[in-house]
Amino acid sequence: MFDQDVAPDVVEFGPGDANLAVVCNIHGDEPTGARAIHRLLKQLPEFERAVKFIVANPPASISHRRFLDVDMNRVFPGDPESDDREQRLAAQLVTETAGCDTISLHTTHATHEPVAFVSEGHPRSLELVSQLPIAYVINETPVIDSSFSSTGQIVSIEVGKVEHPNSIAKAEMLIRAFLTNEGALSGKPPMHAPVTKYFDIYDEVEKPSGDRYELLARNFERVEAGEAYAKSRNGYLLAEEPFVPVLMSQSGYDGIFGYRGRKVGESVEDAKEAWLDEEK
Ligand SMILES: [Zn+2]
Repeated sequence: MFDQDVAPDVVEFGPGDANLAVVCNIHGDEPTGARAIHRLLKQLPEFERAVKFIVANPPASISHRRFLDVDMNRVFPGDPESDDREQRLAAQLVTETAGCDTISLHTTHATHEPVAFVSEGHPRSLELVSQLPIAYVINETPVIDSSFSSTGQIVSIEVGKVEHPNSIAKAEMLIRAFLTNEGALSGKPPMHAPVTKYFDIYDEVEKPSGDRYELLARNFERVEAGEAYAKSRNGYLLAEEPFVPVLMSQSGYDGIFGYRGRKVGESVEDAKEAWLDEEK
């Protein structure tokens, strides 16, 4: 159906060379980011700096599938020679966004509230995310390999629930906040930032197969040792150790509910101390 020359769709607006990028549709079944970009561009905003808008995985998006060959957000930096389309698209996306301050938009089954993901060792990512109106920032490095955020100054954002109408408005607000903060759009950022809390994820929360579960834990509300975090008709799943649930949902992933997290702090300084240490 698709020839071998798949490539991300890139459009650029504004004067100069682009070193800002807004990426969407790494996952083809998450159209929210693309709709938000469309809504923003339809208003014909005047860009004061060049910005690239990138649909990362057009063939999966047209098919409305998460991916065609492999999950693109687990194969970075990609491979231009691979038979897997997402491997080649990932390599092209890295080239397109090299040196760009970048946000990448996703949606989730877990939570309405925007949640940002960064990889440790990228101080610029922390600066970018600390200026956005986002309450939860997660370092995904300990659990997730080869995500887009591992390749540079990139903030990945779960803007809200998949296909939820409010998610488009939230995504547009976050894009505007990012572009205003970075001087590409004039005016005040659209929303005051809430207190941002910083978390590490360190493990997955497995979902035993063969049963239907009701999730009892709420995201970002600490589960104590011995507390039940899910139940099925066969009983309760109890926490052996305390943890903070991150992106947990009944149906978002096969095999896992989501992630075990721990709080790192409530300031970007706390996060820098925890995540940038190795660079000193
Ligand atoms: Zn996604």
